[in-house]
Amino acid sequence: MSRSSDYDLVVIGSGPAGATTARYAAENGLRVLLVDKKQELGAPIQCSGAVSAHALSDVEVMPESEFVLTPIYGFIVYDEAGNPVYLDYRELKPDVYADAPLGYVVDRRRFDRALLSMAEDSGVESWLKTEALGVDRISPDLLEVRLRRLGQEVSVRTRILAGADGVQSQVGKWFGLATHIKLSELASCLQYVVDGVETEGLLEIMTGHAIAPGGYAWIFPKQNKHAEVGLGVIRTMTDDDAHAYLEKLIKDSFLSDRLKDLRVLEIQGGGVPLAAPLKQQYSDNMLLVGDAARHVNPITGGGIHTALRCGAIAGRFIADVIRGGNTPDEQCMSAYQQRWSEELGESMWRLYRRKREIFRQRDIDRRNQMLFETLSHYFSPESEYRKI
Ligand SMILES: Cc1cc2nc3c(=O)[nH]c(=O)nc-3n(C[C@H](O)[C@H](O)[C@H](O)COP(=O)(O)OP(=O)(O)OC[C@H]3O[C@@H](n4cnc5c(N)ncnc54)[C@H](O)[C@@H]3O)c2cc1C
Repeated sequence: MSRSSDYDLVVIGSGPAGATTARYAAENGLRVLLVDKKQELGAPIQCSGAVSAHALSDVEVMPESEFVLTPIYGFIVYDEAGNPVYLDYRELKPDVYADAPLGYVVDRRRFDRALLSMAEDSGVESWLKTEALGVDRISPDLLEVRLRRLGQEVSVRTRILAGADGVQSQVGKWFGLATHIKLSELASCLQYVVDGVETEGLLEIMTGHAIAPGGYAWIFPKQNKHAEVGLGVIRTMTDDDAHAYLEKLIKDSFLSDRLKDLRVLEIQGGGVPLAAPLKQQYSDNMLLVGDAARHVNPITGGGIHTALRCGAIAGRFIADVIRGGNTPDEQCMSAYQQRWSEELGESMWRLYRRKREIFRQRDIDRRNQMLFETLSHYFSPESEYRKI
């Protein structure tokens, strides 16, 4: 086994959470290594790529044409019968959004690569095709991380480890954290990238138990008149899988006429935790960020914004710990979760409580109504939440 030099911070996973954690730590003077097991970041695509404009500006990312596929100006939310609520911000708030988009649909391959480049420009060292295998404690101040890099086993020493390794995170488990996610809180998602479907610069959300039990369906615009048609279902609420519901949406729903000429260009899928944030997101010398910490909006399933925001919080926090000369023991690291709670964790907990209230409702008509009203309100300008 070869030996490598020491770092202040090693980040496992270079999605939006990991690349942003690494960038903010390096910008604040730390020596950072960022590793990802993939040889091509963001691939295969397992994301629709909708992200708000403020999510990017919050972490100083410019909406570059390199990764933006199309601008977004608002939403249409449908109830199960197909009755729409239009929330087009060009009309609702023309002073702000007549020319400036509310958000974007991004290409996750190119977006993740751009975030990595920004991290590298800030001094982060990055290793692709490098899988984290485990961790050993050397002293209260030092961890040794075992990696497989391009087929070779290597190890590196670091003062702090950040687990940004996504929904199936292992890093938290290595430190004994309760990271298990219940099947009843994991949405199974499937989407087709299609052509032949007209869109109008709006994210379309279809609600209703018959459409997507436990979740919702969507049509998102992409570039070149392409679109994403997809949905997420909770498998404990139905015998049928996401594929069956997606086919039903296309062939036998209020959208069928509009979707009848679609051609499927790509099929993408993945799991989205519609769960509460982890109760404990840190341990001695370690913290979790992004999907790994369940930093996902439990109602919309959106996790890019929260991954970026939490990455900035984590990167700055770790820099404060190291530069302050503190031992990063559990008590010291607990202040990370406190900072995260103050900045956005409390909103996420409120959204989770609302989600539980909706899906614990046994009367399906009432549940449908609650979800439709919650999402219509959430995406409206009157919402108390910034769109996360
Ligand atoms: C079908 C679908 C559609 C979605 N649509 C949207 C959307 O439109 N908008 C939105 O905001 N969110 C969406 N999401 C959610 C969003 O994709 C995630 O919340 C977001 O990617 C989380 O970012 P992350 O950095 O925490 O994790 P990830 O993006 O999952 O990155 C984790 C990284 O860790 C790496 N990794 C894992 N284990 C190891 C290891 N042992 N060693 C090294 N590397 C490792 C992986 O290779 C990966 O690159 C969607 C999800 C799905 C499944």
